[in-house]
Amino acid sequence: MVRKEVTPGERLGLAVLGSTGSIGRQALEVARLHRDRLRVVALVARSNADLLEEQAREFLPLMVGLVEEGPASRLRERLNGTGIEVRAGAGCLVEAAAHPLAEVVLNAVVGSAGLPATLAALGAGKKLALANKESLVAGGDLVLQALSGGGELIPVDSEHSAVFHCLSGEDPGSVERIILTASGGPFRGYTRGELEGVTPEMALKHPTWSMGPRITVDSATLMNKGLEVIEAHYLFGLPYDRIEVVVHPQSIVHSLVEFRDGSLAAQLSVPDMRIPIGLALSHPERWRTPARRTTLEDLRELTFEPVDRGTFRCLDLAYRAGKMGGTATAVLNAADEVAVELFLRGEIGFLDIERMVEAVLEDHRPWRVETLDDVVAAEEWARSRALKWRKEKHG
Ligand code: NAD
Ligand code: MG
Repeated sequence: MVRKEVTPGERLGLAVLGSTGSIGRQALEVARLHRDRLRVVALVARSNADLLEEQAREFLPLMVGLVEEGPASRLRERLNGTGIEVRAGAGCLVEAAAHPLAEVVLNAVVGSAGLPATLAALGAGKKLALANKESLVAGGDLVLQALSGGGELIPVDSEHSAVFHCLSGEDPGSVERIILTASGGPFRGYTRGELEGVTPEMALKHPTWSMGPRITVDSATLMNKGLEVIEAHYLFGLPYDRIEVVVHPQSIVHSLVEFRDGSLAAQLSVPDMRIPIGLALSHPERWRTPARRTTLEDLRELTFEPVDRGTFRCLDLAYRAGKMGGTATAVLNAADEVAVELFLRGEIGFLDIERMVEAVLEDHRPWRVETLDDVVAAEEWARSRALKWRKEKHG
């Protein structure tokens, strides 16, 4: 498919996968500001029929979809007569990703459930704005293969958007290292003893970002930063020993790139995901976003400190999985998905997340990822191994 440039009077077709989530809703705020440039053609989510109905009535896409059948049939009744096609089941993600009228696809689904849609969008030659980092963590090798089909991949994750910004116009060979910033999460400065007792409610209060529950808990354990190291490895083609992490509690410097000549480049702004979402949707242009302007006052105190790796061990687990390669990162992500869910249900403790992931990773003998089936099989193995660990520990 030939990609279109934005010309006056012509709008780009946009499909939003995960439109009812934190990123999806913020993307629609950006789309609302730029109706003259973007036309929403497809909206897909898991089960929130009420919000999807509201979004459908506002943006009048050609198709909407819900993965869960019950809510999808309710939505079909409610949208009867509008001319909007309503789809049901997991297949609607792939259908929206490859929609013939979508030139830009935003994948803002949570979890590796987003991977088939990522592959479908790239396979159909779309410009893919990727928030779903799990696509790269679970199936990075497949995503790179799919990219050779002519599609384009632009990161939405704020750190990777910052690196993308810093690398624009640069020779990739001149990059020495990437430094990803981390806020440190709500438990920065805590001891292991204090972490034993933290509750889901405490973990869901992030100091600088407001996000969906999985990524918020992952930010508290620092697993999110680990997933982002793997994401950076695939996006920017650097080995793991040239991707570093630093704690920067103000979340103003979104990441840095060090070049061969000794120069450091960084991207700065108030923490507001509508900026990286806007960049991914508008690149190679830059459009206005509703984000508050960053002032010099905001830059008065910018501090950086090393990660306390002895206390927050998930980051090293992610590096370990990355270096193991093959199916290991899919296993890391799947074990973490299970662990976070059990933690949020109050069934395991906060530090059990790290213990569960470590136990699963330790038992894993990775193999090469050649097809989606390799990822699915590795994830199934990881989920059942994780549940077995819990049974052994907690009865
Ligand atoms: P969220 O939980 O708020 O929203 C998730 C969306 O995905 C919802 O629309 C939900 O309906 C949909 N969804 C969930 N499971 C699904 C499934 N199995 N199939 C299809 N759709 C499904 O999550 P979020 O915070 O918006 O995060 C979305 C993605 O963006 C994640 O990969 C996350 O790591 C990444 N991300 C988020 C932020 C942020 O600020 N929220 C920042 C950087 C990266
Ligand atoms: Mg991030």
